[in-house]
Amino acid sequence: METNQFKELDIKPEILKAITYMGFEEMTPIQAQAIPVELEGYDVVGQAQTGTGKTAAFAIPILQKVNPKLKKPQAIVICPTRELAIQVADEIRKLAKYLSSIKVLPIYGGQEISKQIRSLKSGVQIVIGTPGRIMDHMRRKTVKFDEISTVVLDEADEMLDMGFREDIETILSEIREDRQTLLFSATMPKPILELTRCYQRNPKTIKVVRKELTVPNITQYYYEVRPKNKGEVLCRLLDIYDPKRSVVFCNTKKGVDELVEELQGRGYFAEGLHGDMKQTMRDRVMRSFRNGKTDILVATDVAARGIDVDDVDAVFNYDLPQDEEYYVHRIGRTGRAGKAGMAFSFVVGREVYKLRDIKRYCKTKIKAQPIPSLNDVTETRVEKIFDRLNSYIENQDLGRYINMIENFVNEKDYTSLDVAAAFLAETLGNNEGRDTRGQDDFGDTGAEEGMVRLFINIGKRQGIRPGDILGAIAGESGIPGNLVGTIDLYDKYTFVEVPRDVASDVLEAMKNAKIKGKVINVEPANRK
Ligand code: ADP
Ligand code: MG
Repeated sequence: METNQFKELDIKPEILKAITYMGFEEMTPIQAQAIPVELEGYDVVGQAQTGTGKTAAFAIPILQKVNPKLKKPQAIVICPTRELAIQVADEIRKLAKYLSSIKVLPIYGGQEISKQIRSLKSGVQIVIGTPGRIMDHMRRKTVKFDEISTVVLDEADEMLDMGFREDIETILSEIREDRQTLLFSATMPKPILELTRCYQRNPKTIKVVRKELTVPNITQYYYEVRPKNKGEVLCRLLDIYDPKRSVVFCNTKKGVDELVEELQGRGYFAEGLHGDMKQTMRDRVMRSFRNGKTDILVATDVAARGIDVDDVDAVFNYDLPQDEEYYVHRIGRTGRAGKAGMAFSFVVGREVYKLRDIKRYCKTKIKAQPIPSLNDVTETRVEKIFDRLNSYIENQDLGRYINMIENFVNEKDYTSLDVAAAFLAETLGNNEGRDTRGQDDFGDTGAEEGMVRLFINIGKRQGIRPGDILGAIAGESGIPGNLVGTIDLYDKYTFVEVPRDVASDVLEAMKNAKIKGKVINVEPANRK
């Protein structure tokens, strides 16, 4: 292939139209190399990192080949997880948008099998499934294998990691031998090569070379940290860089759970994803991350691999990955589609050597950075406040306010700088030297010593949990979650205690806040 353009390919105009509609301009390297070979009918072993368009690399030739008049499965894609099966099915459906009479169906565990059987009977040509569920249908003879001419093993390395080897072999041995077998994987460990040897015929190996593995527009930093400070450093980085969506990688499931708890406790919208979680739970977490309800996804490698979410602004290697190649896959979650991304790695003690290996292997620059101080965090917050002020000064008529300040300044013999500085301190929640009189305005709210009890007009009936209250208060007011005291949930309302000296900030911040999408009203509680 001399050029990278899809239109150079000899494929159906309907497919080209869909590609244009999807906004793909150029083929990714794996597509440019694999598609022509696949169209010629060769078996292919394709290796390229996550997010490089492997799905379209096998889906386009499948769609080119599929016979719309034949109402039987003609291609089967085997995927490690339900989430991926759904994702792949969606991508194929998009590519098939302008082809008539092509049916695409994902089949996976957890969904009622009778429903899938009914759909299969309606003449599905392309089946995407998890190994277990495909076997299930095989045994029930609800998937007819006799017309299958293409088999895809997608994310093959992960399927082997998850122990699907035997299932895959069973499935492959049921499918006619003159089929085309395509295998895609981000890594190529030995067991995959064995699979290839046994189940593919003279495959063409296509590997997107390592140099292209790293994405150039990812800024990569590392921090030398002590294990017990990791959480704190993470929070400072989150506050400073303020990524809208980030993925934090831990090496263990336990690590994921503990970090999620810590982050939630500090008021961040974080959720965990790992292999021990039920599928429905994982789906819920992914949905919430996709639609922006969750800002921070904390995950293990296996749980996060292959999941395609665009617009991840930052990746954190909370634990340095065990495998060098994983580093590339992890950071490949950000900086997609030409956007800039950031990757932050935490390094403990001798792990600097591991980091050196990663740098060599990936031929990439990972720059050492000092751990940001609390002052740095404040500075960033101040910068953001100044940014907001810019737009006030430029877009609003401030005449009325200038008069008020003028009067105040003249009356008290302050300078306008004094006043501006006081406003800044107030906005930052810096209460040093604050007048204590105002604090008593709350009267007795029935709270613990030093706290104020607040009333919120929302409760269990609205599906509110303590974490929602905590998250909203910490999130809106910027006070650390651990300062929030007792939360008492009732059916229709909630009481929550906050420190007296930040109570007015919290009240102010909560004025326009919503909890779970509901407008709320917060006020100091009345002692009965
Ligand atoms: P992989 O399977 O390699 O991890 P995917 O197939 O899930 O990657 O693709 C990742 C994202 O890139 C998807 O959103 C897909 O629609 C998009 N994509 C695929 N091919 C192209 C292309 N040629 N140009 C732009 N975006 C593409
Ligand atoms: Mg994929």
